[in-house]
Amino acid sequence: MKLRIAVQSKGRLNEDTMELLKEAGIKVSSSRRTLLVAARKFPMEVLFLRDDDIPETVADGVADIGVVGLNEFEERAADAEIVKHLGFGACRLSIAVPKDVDYTGTEWLQGRRIATSYPGILSRYLESKGVQADIHVITGSVEIATGIGLADAIFDIVSSGSTLVSNNLKEVEVALESDAVLIANKNLSTEKREILDKLLFRIDAVMSASDKKYVLMNAPRECVQAILDVLPGIKSPTVMPLAQEDWCSIHTVLDESCFWDIIGRLKDAGAQGILVLPIEKMIL
Ligand code: ATP
Ligand code: MG
Repeated sequence: MKLRIAVQSKGRLNEDTMELLKEAGIKVSSSRRTLLVAARKFPMEVLFLRDDDIPETVADGVADIGVVGLNEFEERAADAEIVKHLGFGACRLSIAVPKDVDYTGTEWLQGRRIATSYPGILSRYLESKGVQADIHVITGSVEIATGIGLADAIFDIVSSGSTLVSNNLKEVEVALESDAVLIANKNLSTEKREILDKLLFRIDAVMSASDKKYVLMNAPRECVQAILDVLPGIKSPTVMPLAQEDWCSIHTVLDESCFWDIIGRLKDAGAQGILVLPIEKMIL
Protein backbone atom coordinates (compact mmCIF):
# COMPACT_ATOMS: atom_id res chain seq x y z
CA MET A 1 0.00 0.00 0.00
CA LYS A 2 1.41 3.37 -1.05
CA LEU A 3 0.14 6.89 -0.58
CA ARG A 4 0.34 8.78 -3.86
CA ILE A 5 1.21 12.47 -3.65
CA ALA A 6 0.81 14.89 -6.57
CA VAL A 7 3.60 17.46 -6.74
CA GLN A 8 4.20 20.26 -9.25
CA SER A 9 6.69 18.86 -11.78
CA LYS A 10 8.49 22.15 -12.26
CA GLY A 11 7.77 25.69 -11.24
CA ARG A 12 7.64 27.69 -8.06
CA LEU A 13 6.33 25.01 -5.70
CA ASN A 14 8.44 22.05 -6.82
CA GLU A 15 11.62 22.83 -4.94
CA ASP A 16 10.04 23.70 -1.58
CA THR A 17 7.75 20.67 -1.75
CA MET A 18 10.61 18.27 -2.48
CA GLU A 19 12.71 19.91 0.25
CA LEU A 20 9.89 19.46 2.77
CA LEU A 21 9.58 15.77 1.86
CA LYS A 22 13.33 15.36 2.14
CA GLU A 23 13.42 16.96 5.58
CA ALA A 24 10.59 14.63 6.56
CA GLY A 25 12.91 11.74 5.69
CA ILE A 26 11.21 10.90 2.39
CA LYS A 27 13.73 10.59 -0.40
CA VAL A 28 12.82 10.61 -4.05
CA SER A 29 15.59 10.08 -6.58
CA SER A 30 15.80 13.26 -8.62
CA SER A 31 17.76 11.63 -11.44
CA ARG A 32 14.65 9.76 -12.52
CA ARG A 33 12.23 12.66 -12.70
CA THR A 34 9.66 10.62 -14.55
CA LEU A 35 5.94 11.05 -14.06
CA LEU A 36 5.62 8.57 -11.19
CA VAL A 37 8.48 7.87 -8.78
CA ALA A 38 8.45 5.65 -5.68
CA ALA A 39 9.92 7.15 -2.52
CA ARG A 40 12.58 5.34 -0.54
CA LYS A 41 12.02 4.40 3.11
CA PHE A 42 8.38 5.53 3.17
CA PRO A 43 5.24 3.98 1.61
CA MET A 44 4.69 6.81 -0.81
CA GLU A 45 4.97 7.55 -4.51
CA VAL A 46 5.24 10.95 -6.15
CA LEU A 47 3.20 11.88 -9.21
CA PHE A 48 4.68 14.92 -10.98
CA LEU A 49 2.05 17.12 -12.65
CA ARG A 50 1.35 20.67 -13.78
CA ASP A 51 -0.17 22.52 -10.86
CA ASP A 52 -3.38 23.13 -12.82
CA ASP A 53 -4.11 19.40 -12.75
CA ILE A 54 -3.36 18.71 -9.08
CA PRO A 55 -6.71 19.67 -7.46
CA GLU A 56 -8.80 17.48 -9.79
CA THR A 57 -6.34 14.60 -9.67
CA VAL A 58 -6.68 14.53 -5.88
CA ALA A 59 -10.45 15.09 -5.92
CA ASP A 60 -11.01 12.11 -8.23
CA GLY A 61 -8.58 9.85 -6.38
CA VAL A 62 -5.92 9.39 -9.08
CA ALA A 63 -3.63 10.88 -6.42
CA ASP A 64 -4.42 10.55 -2.69
CA ILE A 65 -2.89 13.84 -1.61
CA GLY A 66 -1.22 16.80 -3.29
CA VAL A 67 0.62 20.06 -2.76
CA VAL A 68 -0.77 23.06 -4.62
CA GLY A 69 -1.20 26.82 -4.20
CA LEU A 70 -4.38 27.78 -2.36
CA ASN A 71 -5.09 30.11 -5.29
CA GLU A 72 -5.09 27.20 -7.75
CA PHE A 73 -7.12 24.99 -5.40
CA GLU A 74 -9.77 27.67 -4.84
CA GLU A 75 -9.97 28.47 -8.54
CA ARG A 76 -10.64 24.86 -9.50
CA ALA A 77 -13.18 24.48 -6.67
CA ALA A 78 -12.20 20.80 -6.57
CA ASP A 79 -13.90 18.49 -4.09
CA ALA A 80 -10.90 17.70 -1.87
CA GLU A 81 -10.01 18.75 1.64
CA ILE A 82 -7.27 21.08 2.83
CA VAL A 83 -5.23 19.15 5.40
CA LYS A 84 -2.52 21.67 6.16
CA HIS A 85 -1.19 25.08 5.19
CA LEU A 86 2.51 24.68 4.44
CA GLY A 87 3.56 28.33 4.57
CA PHE A 88 5.76 28.46 1.47
CA GLY A 89 4.72 29.82 -1.95
CA ALA A 90 3.12 32.81 -0.29
CA CYS A 91 1.40 35.26 -2.61
CA ARG A 92 -1.96 37.01 -2.95
CA LEU A 93 -4.58 37.44 -5.61
CA SER A 94 -5.26 41.11 -6.09
CA ILE A 95 -7.05 43.60 -8.30
CA ALA A 96 -4.74 46.21 -9.79
CA VAL A 97 -5.53 49.29 -11.83
CA PRO A 98 -3.35 51.74 -13.81
CA LYS A 99 -1.51 53.89 -11.33
CA ASP A 100 -3.07 57.20 -12.46
CA VAL A 101 -6.62 55.91 -11.87
CA ASP A 102 -8.46 57.70 -9.08
CA TYR A 103 -9.67 54.49 -7.45
CA THR A 104 -12.45 55.10 -4.97
CA GLY A 105 -13.40 51.56 -3.91
CA THR A 106 -14.96 48.44 -5.37
CA GLU A 107 -17.75 50.52 -6.92
CA TRP A 108 -15.13 51.84 -9.37
CA LEU A 109 -15.06 48.31 -10.84
CA GLN A 110 -18.76 48.35 -11.74
CA GLY A 111 -19.14 47.67 -15.46
CA ARG A 112 -15.38 47.61 -16.08
CA ARG A 113 -13.40 44.98 -17.96
CA ILE A 114 -11.07 42.95 -15.72
CA ALA A 115 -8.48 40.60 -17.22
CA THR A 116 -7.50 37.49 -15.24
CA SER A 117 -6.56 33.80 -15.30
CA TYR A 118 -8.65 33.34 -12.14
CA PRO A 119 -12.26 33.91 -13.28
CA GLY A 120 -13.73 31.67 -10.58
CA ILE A 121 -12.19 33.44 -7.60
CA LEU A 122 -12.73 36.86 -9.21
CA SER A 123 -16.42 36.32 -9.93
CA ARG A 124 -17.03 35.08 -6.37
CA TYR A 125 -15.16 38.08 -5.00
CA LEU A 126 -17.07 40.59 -7.12
CA GLU A 127 -20.34 38.96 -6.18
CA SER A 128 -19.49 39.26 -2.49
CA LYS A 129 -18.92 43.00 -3.07
CA GLY A 130 -22.12 43.42 -5.09
CA VAL A 131 -20.20 44.50 -8.18
CA GLN A 132 -20.85 43.44 -11.76
CA ALA A 133 -17.90 43.55 -14.12
CA ASP A 134 -16.89 42.06 -17.42
CA ILE A 135 -14.37 39.28 -16.73
CA HIS A 136 -11.94 38.72 -19.57
CA VAL A 137 -10.06 35.42 -19.26
CA ILE A 138 -6.46 35.31 -20.49
CA THR A 139 -3.95 32.67 -19.52
CA GLY A 140 -0.62 34.49 -19.63
CA SER A 141 0.86 37.99 -19.29
CA VAL A 142 -2.20 39.35 -17.50
CA GLU A 143 -0.14 42.32 -16.28
CA ILE A 144 0.07 43.86 -19.77
CA ALA A 145 -3.71 43.74 -20.37
CA THR A 146 -4.40 47.33 -19.31
CA GLY A 147 -1.39 48.71 -21.16
CA ILE A 148 -2.59 47.27 -24.48
CA GLY A 149 -6.19 48.41 -23.95
CA LEU A 150 -7.60 44.94 -23.33
CA ALA A 151 -8.94 45.73 -19.87
CA ASP A 152 -9.48 48.51 -17.31
CA ALA A 153 -8.09 46.44 -14.44
CA ILE A 154 -6.37 43.12 -13.84
CA PHE A 155 -6.79 40.41 -11.24
CA ASP A 156 -3.60 38.42 -10.76
CA ILE A 157 -0.99 36.94 -8.43
CA VAL A 158 1.09 39.50 -6.57
CA SER A 159 4.04 38.69 -4.35
CA SER A 160 6.59 41.51 -4.15
CA GLY A 161 4.54 43.87 -6.31
CA SER A 162 7.47 44.64 -8.63
CA THR A 163 5.64 43.29 -11.70
CA LEU A 164 2.82 45.73 -10.99
CA VAL A 165 5.20 48.65 -10.62
CA SER A 166 7.01 47.88 -13.86
CA ASN A 167 3.66 47.79 -15.67
CA ASN A 168 2.45 51.09 -14.16
CA LEU A 169 -0.19 49.39 -12.05
CA LYS A 170 -1.21 49.76 -8.41
CA GLU A 171 -2.77 47.12 -6.19
CA VAL A 172 -6.19 48.20 -4.94
CA GLU A 173 -7.95 45.11 -3.57
CA VAL A 174 -6.67 41.82 -2.11
CA ALA A 175 -9.14 38.98 -2.67
CA LEU A 176 -7.12 36.01 -1.42
CA GLU A 177 -3.99 35.43 0.66
CA SER A 178 -2.43 32.23 -0.63
CA ASP A 179 0.25 29.74 0.34
CA ALA A 180 0.93 26.14 -0.61
CA VAL A 181 -1.56 23.71 0.91
CA LEU A 182 -1.52 19.97 1.41
CA ILE A 183 -4.82 18.64 0.07
CA ALA A 184 -6.29 15.16 0.39
CA ASN A 185 -8.93 13.04 -1.28
CA LYS A 186 -12.08 12.93 0.84
CA ASN A 187 -12.44 9.14 0.73
CA LEU A 188 -9.05 7.81 1.72
CA SER A 189 -8.97 4.23 2.98
CA THR A 190 -8.03 3.63 6.61
CA GLU A 191 -4.59 2.36 5.58
CA LYS A 192 -3.93 5.47 3.50
CA ARG A 193 -5.17 7.75 6.31
CA GLU A 194 -2.62 6.10 8.58
CA ILE A 195 0.19 6.82 6.14
CA LEU A 196 -1.06 10.40 5.81
CA ASP A 197 -1.06 10.76 9.61
CA LYS A 198 2.56 9.57 9.71
CA LEU A 199 3.46 12.09 7.02
CA LEU A 200 1.67 14.89 8.90
CA PHE A 201 3.50 13.99 12.11
CA ARG A 202 6.80 14.40 10.26
CA ILE A 203 5.74 17.62 8.52
CA ASP A 204 4.70 19.10 11.88
CA ALA A 205 8.09 18.23 13.34
CA VAL A 206 9.88 19.90 10.44
CA MET A 207 7.65 22.98 10.47
CA SER A 208 7.78 23.46 14.25
CA ALA A 209 11.56 23.45 14.10
CA SER A 210 11.94 25.68 11.07
CA ASP A 211 11.51 29.02 12.83
CA LYS A 212 13.16 28.02 16.11
CA LYS A 213 16.72 28.20 17.38
CA TYR A 214 18.42 26.31 20.19
CA VAL A 215 20.26 28.87 22.32
CA LEU A 216 22.91 28.14 24.97
CA MET A 217 24.82 30.59 27.12
CA ASN A 218 26.99 30.76 30.20
CA ALA A 219 26.41 33.11 33.11
CA PRO A 220 27.44 33.68 36.72
CA ARG A 221 24.89 32.12 39.05
CA GLU A 222 23.76 35.51 40.38
CA CYS A 223 22.69 36.55 36.86
CA VAL A 224 20.54 33.48 36.17
CA GLN A 225 17.26 34.91 37.42
CA ALA A 226 17.67 38.13 35.42
CA ILE A 227 18.38 36.03 32.32
CA LEU A 228 15.37 33.77 32.89
CA ASP A 229 13.21 36.90 33.20
CA VAL A 230 14.25 37.91 29.68
CA LEU A 231 13.41 34.55 28.11
CA PRO A 232 9.89 34.63 26.67
CA GLY A 233 7.27 32.12 27.72
CA ILE A 234 9.64 29.21 28.32
CA LYS A 235 8.14 26.81 30.84
CA SER A 236 11.37 25.43 32.18
CA PRO A 237 14.72 26.35 30.66
CA THR A 238 17.59 24.03 31.47
CA VAL A 239 20.09 25.46 33.96
CA MET A 240 23.21 23.37 34.60
CA PRO A 241 26.20 24.03 36.85
CA LEU A 242 29.56 24.45 35.11
CA ALA A 243 32.88 23.07 36.35
CA GLN A 244 33.87 26.62 37.23
CA GLU A 245 32.30 27.40 40.58
CA ASP A 246 29.23 29.67 40.62
CA TRP A 247 28.84 29.55 36.84
CA CYS A 248 25.91 28.00 34.97
CA SER A 249 24.97 27.03 31.46
CA ILE A 250 21.44 27.95 30.37
CA HIS A 251 19.78 26.18 27.40
CA THR A 252 16.54 27.20 25.75
CA VAL A 253 14.59 27.36 22.48
CA LEU A 254 13.76 30.73 20.94
CA ASP A 255 11.68 31.91 17.99
CA GLU A 256 13.97 33.06 15.23
CA SER A 257 11.84 36.18 14.81
CA CYS A 258 12.64 37.48 18.29
CA PHE A 259 16.15 36.26 18.93
CA TRP A 260 18.09 39.41 17.94
CA ASP A 261 16.06 41.45 20.35
CA ILE A 262 16.32 38.86 23.11
CA ILE A 263 20.01 38.21 22.60
CA GLY A 264 20.92 41.85 23.24
CA ARG A 265 18.95 41.78 26.47
CA LEU A 266 20.50 38.46 27.51
CA LYS A 267 23.97 39.99 27.17
CA ASP A 268 22.87 42.98 29.21
CA ALA A 269 21.61 40.59 31.89
CA GLY A 270 25.06 38.96 32.10
CA ALA A 271 25.00 36.10 29.60
CA GLN A 272 28.29 35.22 27.90
CA GLY A 273 29.40 32.87 25.15
CA ILE A 274 25.94 32.75 23.58
CA LEU A 275 25.55 30.00 20.97
CA VAL A 276 22.63 29.88 18.53
CA LEU A 277 22.07 26.55 16.78
CA PRO A 278 19.56 25.41 14.17
CA ILE A 279 17.00 22.82 15.20
CA GLU A 280 16.33 20.16 12.63
CA LYS A 281 13.16 18.54 14.00
CA MET A 282 10.95 19.30 16.96
CA ILE A 283 8.35 16.90 18.35
CA LEU A 284 5.83 18.74 20.47
P1 ATP B 1 2.63 24.81 -14.12
O1 ATP B 1 3.58 24.67 -15.25
O2 ATP B 1 2.81 23.71 -13.11
O3 ATP B 1 1.20 25.00 -14.54
P2 ATP B 1 2.49 27.59 -13.31
O4 ATP B 1 3.26 28.43 -14.29
O5 ATP B 1 1.01 27.55 -13.41
O6 ATP B 1 3.11 26.13 -13.34
P3 ATP B 1 4.07 28.71 -11.14
O7 ATP B 1 4.41 30.03 -11.73
O8 ATP B 1 5.14 27.69 -11.01
O9 ATP B 1 2.78 28.06 -11.83
O10 ATP B 1 3.45 29.01 -9.69
C1 ATP B 1 2.95 28.00 -8.90
C2 ATP B 1 2.32 28.61 -7.67
O11 ATP B 1 3.30 29.31 -6.91
C3 ATP B 1 1.25 29.65 -7.89
O12 ATP B 1 0.00 29.08 -8.21
C4 ATP B 1 1.21 30.35 -6.55
O13 ATP B 1 0.45 29.60 -5.62
C5 ATP B 1 2.66 30.29 -6.10
N1 ATP B 1 3.39 31.58 -6.19
C6 ATP B 1 4.09 32.16 -5.20
N2 ATP B 1 4.65 33.31 -5.58
C7 ATP B 1 4.31 33.49 -6.84
C8 ATP B 1 4.60 34.52 -7.81
N3 ATP B 1 5.34 35.57 -7.53
N4 ATP B 1 4.09 34.36 -9.04
C9 ATP B 1 3.37 33.29 -9.36
N5 ATP B 1 3.07 32.29 -8.48
C10 ATP B 1 3.53 32.39 -7.24
MG1 MG C 1 -0.24 26.17 -13.81
